[in-house]
Amino acid sequence: MAIKFGVLKGASSWVTARPLHAHSTVLNKSDFRDAMYLRYGWTPPKLPEKCGCGETFTTTHAMQCMVGGFRGYLHNEVNYIYYDACKQAGFHDVCLEPKLQPLDGEVFKYKSANKDDEARSDLRVMGFWSRSRRAFFDVTAFSPFARSHQGKTPSALFQMHEQRKIREYRERIPQRSTIRWCSLQEEWAPEFSRKSPNP
Ligand SMILES: [Zn+2]
Repeated sequence: MAIKFGVLKGASSWVTARPLHAHSTVLNKSDFRDAMYLRYGWTPPKLPEKCGCGETFTTTHAMQCMVGGFRGYLHNEVNYIYYDACKQAGFHDVCLEPKLQPLDGEVFKYKSANKDDEARSDLRVMGFWSRSRRAFFDVTAFSPFARSHQGKTPSALFQMHEQRKIREYRERIPQRSTIRWCSLQEEWAPEFSRKSPNP
C-alpha cells in the first residue's frame, strides 16, 4: 500500500525540494528519517510507547486519534502552507478560517451538510480562479493505512474524502456568481499531496 502511494505523481517532491527555511522545506535528521520510514510503510524508530489518550502509540493510531493532536497538526500545517503560498503569490485578500454566511432557513439535500451557524472553511482567497471571485478551500488529512481504508485504491480514497467534503460544504457555500467551491486533500505523510478544483 505504501508503495502504491509512494509512486503517485508528486509523492516524491519533498525528497527533491530545495531545503529553504523560507519555504519550510528544511527537515532535520529525525524528521527526514521518519518521513522516509513512513514513505515505505515502515514503523519509525523511537516512537513513544503511549499516546496522550492512553492507547498504545502506533503511526496509524496517531493519525486517527482526536486526542493526540497529530491529525490536527497535519491539517493546520497544510492549511498554513497554502495560506502562505497564496500571500507570496500576491493575493491580497487571503483569510484563514473565514466564517461562512449564517443560515436563513435553507434546506439541504444531504444530512451531512454543515448546518452550524458558526461554520468556517479553512481558507478563502479572493481572485484565486478569476478576478473579484472568492475561492473557498478546505483541507482534509487522512491516513490511507487506516483499517477502514484497507483494500481501497488511492484514487478511491481521494474520491471518498472529496465526496464527504462536497456533501458537507457544497450546499453551504453556494455556487453564486462571486463564490466557487474547492477542496484540498492531504494524506498521512508529507510527501503525499493533491489539489483539485471542483467544477
Ligand atoms: Zn490516542
